[in-house]
Amino acid sequence: MNESNPNQAALRIIPREAHCISRKQISSGALRVLYRLNEAGYAAYLVGGAVRDLLIGGQPKDFDVATDATPEDVRRLFRNCRLIGRRFRLAHVVFGPEIVEVATFRGNGGDDIDTDGDRQVVDGRIVRDNVWGTIEEDALRRDFTANALYYDIADFSVRDYVGGYDDVQRRVLRLIGDPLQRYREDPVRMLRAVRLSAKLGFSISPEARAPFAELGVLLTQAPPARLFDESLKMFLAGSGLKSFRALEQFGLLGAVFPLTARALAFRGGESFRAVLEAGLAGTDARVSEGKSVTPAFLFAVLLWGAVRAQAEREIARGVDPNLAWQRVSHQIITEQAKHVAIPRRFGQVMQEIWTLQPRFADRQKKKVFRLLAHPRFRGAYDFLLLRAPEGADIAELGRWWTHAQSTPHEALAEELSAAPTSAAAPASDAPKKRRRRRRKPSAQASAATDSQ
Ligand code: ATP
Ligand code: MG
Repeated sequence: MNESNPNQAALRIIPREAHCISRKQISSGALRVLYRLNEAGYAAYLVGGAVRDLLIGGQPKDFDVATDATPEDVRRLFRNCRLIGRRFRLAHVVFGPEIVEVATFRGNGGDDIDTDGDRQVVDGRIVRDNVWGTIEEDALRRDFTANALYYDIADFSVRDYVGGYDDVQRRVLRLIGDPLQRYREDPVRMLRAVRLSAKLGFSISPEARAPFAELGVLLTQAPPARLFDESLKMFLAGSGLKSFRALEQFGLLGAVFPLTARALAFRGGESFRAVLEAGLAGTDARVSEGKSVTPAFLFAVLLWGAVRAQAEREIARGVDPNLAWQRVSHQIITEQAKHVAIPRRFGQVMQEIWTLQPRFADRQKKKVFRLLAHPRFRGAYDFLLLRAPEGADIAELGRWWTHAQSTPHEALAEELSAAPTSAAAPASDAPKKRRRRRRKPSAQASAATDSQ
């Protein structure tokens, strides 16, 4: 209802006994903040994703608090508090590893768009007091109705100004206000819709979905730093594969990862899709096992199809393979970074992972040991394993390196001395070469390159 009537905030209160949120599910840090604010006479609510997640029986990632206390008021109440943000200050209250974000209700001017702090306020300072608002205003500036619910610590009720409670029950993401306007204000909301629908299994309302086709292109203008953050939330938070499929399904992949979208559409797209999906599924599995995941590996996977196709083209044109891989890796990263920022430290790792791929095809003893000792061996090897769908030769290479790794040094050395290097099944990217490498006439290409 609020989509057509954005300024009408009709309050519905869902009393304690009518909803399923219990204080036991709220972190001790968040509870302490809520109680202390309340005892000091301020309004104090749990808000946003945490309320939504608790209502569907999920485990919130973090707990955000909204209040009518200003950040300075909050700081006076908590010694373990620091104020962050330039234009919109927020209080972070720290309890050991837990950080509770406490935000003062914001009015119209106080949206969330520049929380990464890298936007300039162009026309002079915004008078800070003007951005604070009422709880109703705070609810209306949020993105989806499901994200605009307030759990009141005073009476344990849930306050709903936008119909979010019913939308959570129906598992639907509905934008607050006019969708076109809300996406124009902040195109990243389109990605949030896709990401949250993938993560929560919610649908996106037809009204919230309809503008994607027309406005998706606005994402090409979104700040790369924000798209980097959002990409990590999409792909490294446990629902990467679903996010990817949803991005494609909703036609937004090309606006954020144009090189990936193109590589999927062209020759070799099918095997690249298999590699990409295996990479995302593997990352999701690691997240659910509590293992670490890295943006470098993720981006190496996302851009692999583009790097590989372009490197092959260059090599076919007669460019030296090493040079081609180096140059293309660099170009692809530079191109993608126009859309999604790729911090340099990750770019370097990506280049190493990619440029090590052709080296797996070479089973000369010296080179094998050099590669095994390479600091990036592990990541590059994991990457090689993902590439199995590219062809039987690559799958075989993966098996061989698995074997090489688990074989004691001496035994492996002996094996490699005994076997002629030509026994190596060459990688499909190790050149269908006209120009042979010096000192190594044996490693020849197989025909499997055609699968790419
Ligand atoms: P997650 O569970 O992934 O953290 P979330 O909904 O909590 O999802 P956050 O990025 O933590 O997402 O944002 C917290 C809250 O801030 C949201 O629930 C929403 O109310 C509001 N919000 C965040 N981003 C925007 C935005 N771009 N526009 C409007 N409101 C936003
Ligand atoms: Mg959150």
